[in-house]
Amino acid sequence: MSASVIDGKAFAAEVRGKVAAHVARLKEQGITPGLAVVLVGEDPASQVYVRAKGKQTVEVGMASFEHKLDAGTSEADLLALIARLNADPAVHGILVQLPLPGHLDEDLVINAIDPAKDVDGFHISNVGLLATGQKAMVPCTPLGCLMMLRDHHGSLSGLNAVVIGRSNIVGKPMAQLLLRDSCTVTVAHSRTKDIEAVVRQADIVVAAVGRPQMVTGDWVKPGATVIDVGINRIDAPEKGEGKTRLVGDCDYDSCAEVAGAITPVPGGVGPMTIACLLANTLTACCRANGVEEPEGLTA
Ligand code: NDP
Repeated sequence: MSASVIDGKAFAAEVRGKVAAHVARLKEQGITPGLAVVLVGEDPASQVYVRAKGKQTVEVGMASFEHKLDAGTSEADLLALIARLNADPAVHGILVQLPLPGHLDEDLVINAIDPAKDVDGFHISNVGLLATGQKAMVPCTPLGCLMMLRDHHGSLSGLNAVVIGRSNIVGKPMAQLLLRDSCTVTVAHSRTKDIEAVVRQADIVVAAVGRPQMVTGDWVKPGATVIDVGINRIDAPEKGEGKTRLVGDCDYDSCAEVAGAITPVPGGVGPMTIACLLANTLTACCRANGVEEPEGLTA
């Protein structure tokens, strides 16, 4: 194995440390950043995420407001809650946990959030601001990937980046961020022809597909940096009957033999996502109060 491991868990702890230090300084000025998380329904994975978010919010010294609503909550009631949170000065960040139950229009709900409090960066205004190179709230997962890439490479200018996946929450904003850092960006997706050859051109590969271990070492240019966003649960009979394990969209062992650096799954992009949610909440709070933003925690 030749690749160095980009330790997202350790990096996320560093980010949380920076956030906590800045929160402590804000509190001396009588300002406490607050994050409201809205969960509709009982999706088990969403419940785990929301618990982790609430716990880490409190750990960095912020106020956490959790709103758990029944799966049958009407759109009108959800929108009324969002309107209250938009108007609440103690709330600087609002996150509506996705996916929402099928009867709720996700676009309508997300676009009802005040863009200044949209710490997920999914509001259409923030998407537009990012695309036009203006100050935006940036989606947490791609922001975490960008932070790790900047930390590893220093400047990304002129590097060839291939983003696999074109979703609104990962692939597209990731491509925008890399373009903003002057990479030459290619976005690959399910219709891309000869995707292996496309990926082999990349100095930076970001895989956000949702297909376990799709990218193998023979797709990777020697020395490239591989950022694996994928989180996939697969059977793990070697751990015992009925056991499972998490893997990324990249086949870690074969990619690590060829890459210069790689993020593991778990312990790579995942921990950075929540750390960036806290960073975004802090940024939103600083902007709302007209105080200096922390350095290195935004795009
Ligand atoms: P989506 O399902 O929204 O998008 C997947 C993308 O992958 C689509 O653009 C799709 O292309 C593309 N794709 C599918 N099959 C192929 C293929 N065979 N070859 C090339 N491209 C393909 O997923 P998300 O972006 O939401 O998530 C991607 C992965 O990242 C998932 O594993 C998810 O669990 C994980 N994730 C991890 C996070 C973290 O914190 N670490 C946060 C968010 C997501 P097309 O558009 O043509 O259909």
